[in-house]
Amino acid sequence: MSTTTLHELIEVPPYVGLELVPVACALCGADDGEPVAVGEDFEYRTSADSFLAVRCRRCGLLYLSPRPTARELPRIYPSTYHAFDFSPERFGFVYRVRRALETRRALAWCRGLPPAARVIDIGCGDGFHLKLLRAVNPDGWTLEGIDSSMRAVAAARAHDLTVHLGTIETVDLPEAEYDLALLIATIEHVADPVGVLAAVHRLLRPGGRAILVTDNANAPDFRLFGGRHWGGYHFPRHWNLFTRETLAALANRAGLEVVSIETTMSPVNWVYSLRNALDDWGAPRWIVNRFSLRSPVSLAAFTVVDTLCQLLGAGALLRASLRRPLPYADASYPPLSVAI
Ligand SMILES: [Zn+2]
Repeated sequence: MSTTTLHELIEVPPYVGLELVPVACALCGADDGEPVAVGEDFEYRTSADSFLAVRCRRCGLLYLSPRPTARELPRIYPSTYHAFDFSPERFGFVYRVRRALETRRALAWCRGLPPAARVIDIGCGDGFHLKLLRAVNPDGWTLEGIDSSMRAVAAARAHDLTVHLGTIETVDLPEAEYDLALLIATIEHVADPVGVLAAVHRLLRPGGRAILVTDNANAPDFRLFGGRHWGGYHFPRHWNLFTRETLAALANRAGLEVVSIETTMSPVNWVYSLRNALDDWGAPRWIVNRFSLRSPVSLAAFTVVDTLCQLLGAGALLRASLRRPLPYADASYPPLSVAI
C-alpha cells in the first residue's frame, strides 16, 4: 500500500530566513551597540525573523543590527508596500486629509525659493510630494525625483513626473544645481546616511537647503513602545533612527549647516505601535485592523494625542532644515540662527 505523504504531493519549500549582516554605527563607526529592542516585521510579515535594534554607546545612534543584505530588498519591500501606491483609490479619505496637511507643509518648505528653482525629492516613492508641488506651482519650479524601487518609479512616471531610478549616490546628476532637496521618510531607510547627505551637499548650490523628515526616536510613543512594538522601527526596513542630537551630528558629518530641527505631529507611529502590540498579543483580527493607514478613526484619535505631544515640543516626527554653507567670503548673507 502506498504511503504518500502530504509533503510528497505538495512541494513545500523549507522556510528560509532573511540573509542578515551585523553592522557598525553609520554615524561614528563604533561597533559597540547596546540592545534596545527585539521585534518582528509586524506590518508586512515578509519573514518570520526577529530583529534587534541597538543604540551606539559612543554617539547614541539607534540602528538595526544585524540587518538584511541588499539582496533581500525585493523581499522586505513587497509589492503591497504603501509608499509604492499611496493613491486616492486605495486610501480614500485618509489620502485627501494627508494631501491637505502635506500641501501646507510643502509650501512652508518652499518659502523663499527663487521662481525657477530646481527641486529634487530623494526617495520620492510614487511621487506624492512632487505632485503636490506641481499642483501649487505648475509652471515654476523644475521638479525631479529619485527612487531605487522600479515599482515606485513606474508609478511616479505614470503621473508624468521626471523620476530617476537608482540612489542619490549612483545616479549621475548635475552638481551645485539644486535649490532644495527633500528627504521625506527617506534617511531612516538608507544604509549610509552620511554618504547620502554628502551626496545631497554636492547637488545643492551654496546656500541651497535640504528638508529631512524622519521618525523621532525620543518622542513619547518611542518611550512607551520602544522595547518592541514602536511603529518607527518598521522592522526590518528602518535601518537608522534619529533624535535631535544624532540628526544634528549627521548633518555636521556631511558638512551641512543646521538651520533648525523641530518636531512635527504625526499619528502614524502611534497607530502602528498599538497595532503591533495588539497583533503580537494575539488580539482578534477585527480589532487589529482598526489600527492602520486605512482607518480614519484611529488616525484621527492619535492626531489629537500627538498634537498634544507636539505642543510640548515632542511630536512623533523630526523635521530638520539644513543648508549647504556659503563661502565665508560672501558677506551678503547673514549668519544663521541655529535652533536645535
Ligand atoms: Zn555611533
